[in-house]
Amino acid sequence: MGDLHFDCTMCGQCCHGLRLPLSLAEARLWLDKGGTVQLMCEAHPWPEEPADGDALGHYRRARTFAAQSGGLPVRIMVTLVAAFAGPCPFLLPDMRCGNYAERPRVCRIYPAEMNPFAVLKPAGKACPPEAWNDANPLLARNGEAVAPETVAIVAAARATSIEDGRAKERLCADLGIAVAALGNEGYVAHSPNPAALRAALAGLENARPFRSVAWTVASNRSATIAMLEAAGAQSLLAADGDAGASDYIGFFPAG
Ligand code: SF4
Ligand code: SF4
Repeated sequence: MGDLHFDCTMCGQCCHGLRLPLSLAEARLWLDKGGTVQLMCEAHPWPEEPADGDALGHYRRARTFAAQSGGLPVRIMVTLVAAFAGPCPFLLPDMRCGNYAERPRVCRIYPAEMNPFAVLKPAGKACPPEAWNDANPLLARNGEAVAPETVAIVAAARATSIEDGRAKERLCADLGIAVAALGNEGYVAHSPNPAALRAALAGLENARPFRSVAWTVASNRSATIAMLEAAGAQSLLAADGDAGASDYIGFFPAG
């Protein structure tokens, strides 16, 4: 795979039609500036803890919280995202970022990957060919970022995603969010009222007790629903774009 040299051409293509992953602190900032934040929820059945060598299992465990769906133990992954169709609300007409000093970490490291299991491939990025010129600074080696500033930001973001994991259980409880898509099949995107979300995020600073909620696992496929019911889960057959008051975003056709 070799070395990837990169320099941003400021084409602005990466600032359109996105769900940008945010930390809890970044979500507060985004809301304060008038942006829209959603909670993308997925449920992973968790019959037992991952084995020592299961790197993906341990990575996922550190970023989720334990919950129950009927009789099925699950772990819930909640990803807060800045959501927008079309250009980012902060993108200026000349394609500069109007939120440069406070842009989320994911913007600072693009086109590098936050996920350690994802390999950086120019073909999967919005950047034009001229951005990947060998005369540009070295960004990545064998698909993994090596540019020091990028490596530092990615490390900080990964640490924050672990710190945020447990607080997200309370955030969902406070917002009454309790429906998640079956992991690896899709997401349920919840769009809470911005004022309610801002208040719930602010409330995370007070260490008061809260009651764990029972989760419902959604899918757009009847075979998955049958499997979930056989496993004792509380399930919901969702049409794409509809999981109760939220949007179901499936990776596979409904069936
Ligand atoms: S915050 Fe700035 S860098 Fe990030 S998507 Fe918006 S315009 Fe682009
Ligand atoms: S798509 Fe790539 S080259 Fe274009 S603005 Fe974004 S990071 Fe820069």
